[in-house]
Amino acid sequence: MKSAAFEYHRATTLDEAFACMARYDGQAQWLAGGQSLLAMMNLRLANPPALIDIRAIAGLSDIQQVGSVVRLGALCTHHQILTSPIIQTAVPLLSQAVPHVAHLAIRHVGTIGGSLALADPAAEYPTVVQALQGTLIAKGPSGERRIPVDDYFVGLYQTALQPGELLTAIELPVAQAHQRFHFDELSRRRGDYGMVGLAAAAQVQAGACSGVRLSFLAVGDGPVLARQAMAALEGRQLDDSTVRQAQQALDQDLHPAGDLQANAATKLHCARVLLGRALAAWRTAP
Ligand SMILES: Cc1cc2nc3c(=O)[nH]c(=O)nc-3n(C[C@H](O)[C@H](O)[C@H](O)COP(=O)(O)OP(=O)(O)OC[C@H]3O[C@@H](n4cnc5c(N)ncnc54)[C@H](O)[C@@H]3O)c2cc1C
Repeated sequence: MKSAAFEYHRATTLDEAFACMARYDGQAQWLAGGQSLLAMMNLRLANPPALIDIRAIAGLSDIQQVGSVVRLGALCTHHQILTSPIIQTAVPLLSQAVPHVAHLAIRHVGTIGGSLALADPAAEYPTVVQALQGTLIAKGPSGERRIPVDDYFVGLYQTALQPGELLTAIELPVAQAHQRFHFDELSRRRGDYGMVGLAAAAQVQAGACSGVRLSFLAVGDGPVLARQAMAALEGRQLDDSTVRQAQQALDQDLHPAGDLQANAATKLHCARVLLGRALAAWRTAP
């Protein structure tokens, strides 16, 4: 199937992009890598009157460390993130997650901004940004605003972005000494969307953890923070009993619906397995 007819515009500055969007009353769609949007249009799941291509706008694809945060422009591709030395050393959780995003060809064009704007509940980046308590930076014709991740994901494929607003950058904190990170997911084939995935972060010192953040993918309408499991781990030694209690607490945190990949019970089991793996890795970490 092919998409319905649409108009195409290529913006070279933000002002031009917003002026163009205003002509469509915010109903046009930004085009970044096109790896999700074009497929949705071909399936007639999205029928925007126009696409505004943002890829030629300068300054939206840098990765920079600025003090205690790393700032990624929204147009950074998955490949750019995968190969960035800054991300490898300063944001190891993102570095661990990106090999799970799609396949090589898609990683060369798909962007982090596109993924976070789409907010697919099975996508990897939303869990990473949630686990790290990142900040999303959005611009509209009336200026810029900073959105803490806890206010950003508001429902199934829904974010706090207003129609016509553009995600310009994402800020993630630089990893600190004693912080440990773990990303893993279970999928039927490598490169497929995960059945379940986990992005985890904590301070681990003398065998005990604190500041725990556990964000799961593909178990809810968006990334799901496992608050009860986080509480079960907070300040505790990572012994067998603590691990078991945290895994059991996931029953209260996660209420997945079954999908084409796995039923609800399988997803919950996979989530417990992934949490067990993360905690086992942290227990043996130096
Ligand atoms: C076969 C296949 C497998 C895939 N597997 C995975 C996977 O395992 N994990 C995963 O996470 N993703 C996967 N993807 C999706 C891929 O990661 C996409 O690149 C990503 O979801 C969207 O990024 P994009 O740049 O292509 O966005 P686009 O498709 O261009 O846009 C997506 C949506 O976001 C909006 N948008 C784009 N940029 C911005 C912005 N800066 N501000 C505001 N709105 C914006 C668009 O208007 C559109 O609504 C897969 C895709 C394919 C085709």
